[in-house]
Amino acid sequence: IRHHLKDPSLFKEDAFIHGQWTKAATGERFAVNNPATNEHIADVANVDIAQAERAIGAANAALPEWCSKTGKERANMMRKWFELITEHASDLATLMTLEQGKPLVEAMGEVSYGASFIEWFAEEAKRVAGAIPSTTWSDKRLMVLKQPIGVCVAITPWNFPIAMITRKIAPAMAAGCTIVIKPAELTPLSALALAELSMRAGIPAGVINILTADEKQSIAIGKVLCASPTVRHLSFTGSTEVGRILMTQCAPTVKKLALELGGHAPFIVFEDADIDAAVAGAVASKFRNSGQTCVCANRFYVHQKIHDVFVEKFAKAIQSIKVGNGLDAGITQGPLIEPAALTKVERHVADAISKGATLVAGGKRSVLGGTFYEPTILANVDKDMLITHEETFGPVAPIIPFASDDEVIALANDSQYGLASYFYSRDIGRIWKAAEALDYGIVGVNTGIISNEVAPFGGIKQSGLGREGSIYGMDEYLEMKYVCIGL
Ligand code: ADP
Repeated sequence: IRHHLKDPSLFKEDAFIHGQWTKAATGERFAVNNPATNEHIADVANVDIAQAERAIGAANAALPEWCSKTGKERANMMRKWFELITEHASDLATLMTLEQGKPLVEAMGEVSYGASFIEWFAEEAKRVAGAIPSTTWSDKRLMVLKQPIGVCVAITPWNFPIAMITRKIAPAMAAGCTIVIKPAELTPLSALALAELSMRAGIPAGVINILTADEKQSIAIGKVLCASPTVRHLSFTGSTEVGRILMTQCAPTVKKLALELGGHAPFIVFEDADIDAAVAGAVASKFRNSGQTCVCANRFYVHQKIHDVFVEKFAKAIQSIKVGNGLDAGITQGPLIEPAALTKVERHVADAISKGATLVAGGKRSVLGGTFYEPTILANVDKDMLITHEETFGPVAPIIPFASDDEVIALANDSQYGLASYFYSRDIGRIWKAAEALDYGIVGVNTGIISNEVAPFGGIKQSGLGREGSIYGMDEYLEMKYVCIGL
């Protein structure tokens, strides 16, 4: 891997505990593979539970000094880290493409998106403010302080190997917390490169700790992180199923939780929509990261009057998607992350076709082999198919016609999930009504791309708890303390 990098020392295979590169106590390692080529690219330390305890201890030991710095002091170090990430963006993107598969251009986009959280929360670090409510007792004065919650844990997924980490680390650090991160076993290299740059930025030992572990050991470590009374906050991005497990495991110690779980985003095209814009938004929302994001459109509802034109234009638009190894020039869709992901996509497509859906484009594995799958469009989809309920996490767009606004809003809201939703319309009344009626934490109107550091990201219902990014994102990591002073 090193020969791909301008700065080969960003390639790390050991865990990062208390500022030290740390091998597994057992000597064990786990393999990381490139999903585009199936090449074995790294052997990463498989830490044990005693080392997880040690990382919690390191974060706890670093806490008093870190939280007693001023917001401005923390901001300056974070700013340095942001600048180093920006300076090494192309190496970070290369590492990400090698372990995750997304096209290099998308990986560069993620590095910049990921870094933006560090920049934003470094700025916010200076703006934490309590309050002085007016008193109802003439002989007492009231005060509200905001203080860091303490040691935090982040468990993150493979689909955004940098951004899902920085979106949690940055507000925690800015608030004065220290953190232990358990990155996804499929993509630990991006996380470790971030840690190397944090060290170069002068962030003190113990403020950031990274535990690397394989699938089995991640479960064991997860239990330790959840059970620890020292850990006061757990932030998780991943499947709803794992979110539920972590929530249960955190109950005995009553930890504060932030959960970014699954989604099943509806994408509605009303009859008055700008169809070309809707097609462009549909391609961007659906096929980004090969369809492997929790905000990717999962169900396309298209008004029956414009249905056929939309389908025809959508099918034409996806012909320009170039599937291949994300490191190659011009590639716009990489492989799926692993064979199980491919099997799930195949299962959803086969189920839809067996129940009467028609194949408009794709519908099979790519000739490239491996886990590459063709960009796919299915028409005549209905609510009895798996694909309209379960997250596909692949490059498949199912299209469902509708006749009225009320009907489509009801269909769109018929989900246990409530993360992102999208619609296209030019009618201001319809825009207001639909935006208010959709039971989702995020609504994209006339756009398929919604994420940025300034906006609150998060879901309702079984898509999770809390919001990340934005002026609200730091409250997650701050406790409020009420002080009542008798005069
Ligand atoms: P995805 O569906 O995106 O693969 P998962 O929810 O399976 O997401 O995994 C996301 C993260 O959660 C990964 O870092 C993984 O190692 C971790 N994880 C999975 N299962 C558990 C568990 N039982 N306890 C703790 N962490 C887990």
